[in-house]
Amino acid sequence: MPEAARTADLMHFLDASPTSYHAVAELARRLEAAGFTALVGGEVWGQLPNQGFTTRDGALIAWRTPAVWSRQPGLRIFAAHSDSPALKLKPHGLHERFGYQMANVEVYGGPLLPTWFDRDLSVAGRIVDLAGTSHLVHANAVARVPSLAIHLDRSQNSELRVEAQRDLVALLGLASSEPDLATHLADLVGLDPNQVGGHDLFLVADQPATRVGTSGELLASARLDNLLSVHSGLSAFLAAEATDDVQLLVVHDHEEVGSHTASGASGPFAEHLLRRLSQAGGFSQDAHHAWLDRGWCLSADVTHAVHPNRPDRHDPTTRPVLGGGPVLKWSAAMRYGTDATTMACWARACRAAGVEHQVFVNNNSVPGGASLGPLAATRLGIRTVDAGVAVLGMHSIRELCAVADPAAFAAVARAFLAGE
Ligand code: ZN
Repeated sequence: MPEAARTADLMHFLDASPTSYHAVAELARRLEAAGFTALVGGEVWGQLPNQGFTTRDGALIAWRTPAVWSRQPGLRIFAAHSDSPALKLKPHGLHERFGYQMANVEVYGGPLLPTWFDRDLSVAGRIVDLAGTSHLVHANAVARVPSLAIHLDRSQNSELRVEAQRDLVALLGLASSEPDLATHLADLVGLDPNQVGGHDLFLVADQPATRVGTSGELLASARLDNLLSVHSGLSAFLAAEATDDVQLLVVHDHEEVGSHTASGASGPFAEHLLRRLSQAGGFSQDAHHAWLDRGWCLSADVTHAVHPNRPDRHDPTTRPVLGGGPVLKWSAAMRYGTDATTMACWARACRAAGVEHQVFVNNNSVPGGASLGPLAATRLGIRTVDAGVAVLGMHSIRELCAVADPAAFAAVARAFLAGE
């Protein structure tokens, strides 16, 4: 696909996926269009299609299996997460104050909070009715987190401190306006407000993804962490040719809050799916464990490009840049899954794809982040490499990457899935 069309497709995916639930719906739509069969997790599967997928809330796993399982197929997994930092509406959090409609929120994950003020925010997520049916909802430009004018506290430019409970209560409009947010959201999904049983609703950025730079060489968007990786993974998965190996696209939810959920990387979603796949392939328990032992996982998440104004926060010698190619992530403390064996696997895939790559390591005085890689490796016992695309402003409401890097990353991921 030409670069302009590929970037436009990524931007569309980012805009269509304000929350993990929307991302999974968009992935499902694209997989079905590509001929993959949707299977419901709660049904008995028996025989499986060679190309299929299943979802669990904000998580999805798609597979491509060989037409006939050989005695010793390999296993190639591309794993990423669907969630991003945001503000999440508390249940029963709507109230009035000084003539305003307000919404009480809790911080989801680790957003760079100052970037959330004075933005036009959408409310997006899912509403579950009393019968248990889930409804996706996305209401544009219905909220703001208002900053305090500089005249009312001149210390803000030198020592801004955000107190989440005091400062992040969102303003939804005037108390006199009709309908209130609860009624508006119920209307959007065709429900009466008292049919609503529960919700997972987030305040998210409303501004569409935009190309930036004199030749549009950069991409600014919300949720590059980690929908950029999910999009690269989907592109690679759809482009990878079938081999004797089983290929998986795994998208977990809740990475930003620790992954310890039924749809997170520490949960059993992938483990159970792998068991169901190998059972359909006629594997014994022994053969199943041998299969996992032969497996490889590429854990994909964004990483930090060197900040031009704050190079002191980075390792002094190893500094990824925007546009320099995909980035291998390494940590002696195993905050990433990468070790020598998986570095070599990654290097083989980069060479096969003809892509130059970079390396990220932490400055020893800066703890840095982590990824779902070690969690998935611990849960499944599969050798894992962590890699991704460099961004600036990770966890800002609007992150920045170079448009060339996602395509290069997808090319390496395709080679990895094909076992090259
Ligand atoms: Zn991430």
